[in-house]
Amino acid sequence: MKKRWMLSAVILAAGCSADNEGAAEAENNVHTNTETAPDENNSAAEELNETNDAEDNSEEEELEIEDEEENEEGKDEEESDGEEDMEEPETPAYSLQGDSSIAPLEEGAENNAVLLTIDDAPDQHAVEMAETLAELDAGAIFFVNGHFLEGEEKEEMLQHIHELGFEIGNHTMTHPNLRDVTEGETEEEIIALNDRIEEIIGERPRFFRAPFGVNTDKSEEVVETEGMQSMNWTYGYDFEADYMEAEALEEIMVETELLRGGANLLMHDRSFTLEALPGIVEGLREKGYEIVDVRDIE
Ligand SMILES: [Zn+2]
Repeated sequence: MKKRWMLSAVILAAGCSADNEGAAEAENNVHTNTETAPDENNSAAEELNETNDAEDNSEEEELEIEDEEENEEGKDEEESDGEEDMEEPETPAYSLQGDSSIAPLEEGAENNAVLLTIDDAPDQHAVEMAETLAELDAGAIFFVNGHFLEGEEKEEMLQHIHELGFEIGNHTMTHPNLRDVTEGETEEEIIALNDRIEEIIGERPRFFRAPFGVNTDKSEEVVETEGMQSMNWTYGYDFEADYMEAEALEEIMVETELLRGGANLLMHDRSFTLEALPGIVEGLREKGYEIVDVRDIE
């Protein structure tokens, strides 16, 4: 059932060196919300905690009730046969915050949810990552690039990830730093990918994540006209040299002091991240966090 993956040599795929993603972030505090250089994560975390520490009064019933409702939906009614319950509309329970975290819509509700996101997909490991997450019943957003959607095989990969119930997000056609391209190119980078995704899975993405976390006035405008929400992330490590290895990554993703309710976890389509995924999900759950169902985000 659970797949174990041999640790393979670290080969960063072309298109997005995650190293660059981390490095570039550092320079871009002007246009982005909370993206920080990995080294600045600690102070960023403090800021985030300051703004979000308010909701520590436990109110666990809420989440239990939700779970029960889901179960009922799943079991009771004979669902129009074969239709997965993932197609059913659900009442949003969370909203995306300006700092890229998620928060319960209901005031005072405990926030023990975390959001998983996988960038630069579908390259080599996204399908296995999706299958692994599906087995663990953990939701995620796969942020995809147009250059990973060329050819029938890639289209099928995207379809498969979508059919497993995962949210497909827009991460631009070619993964440029949007500060280095023209406004027209920015428009093309985002809208052409939405068209492409819709062509493949029949839906336009709800979420946008700029490469390197670099948003611009133009990208924000396009995101708005496309009716999307833009997010960066609150923490991630698989682009740092020390954590390009499953065991270290698994540990830091769960043990980091940046882990908190509402955290938005950045990961990438990488072999070591795939290998670390089960341990990350289990570790988060052991700490009392719930992996959010992306459909529950309004
Ligand atoms: Zn990226």
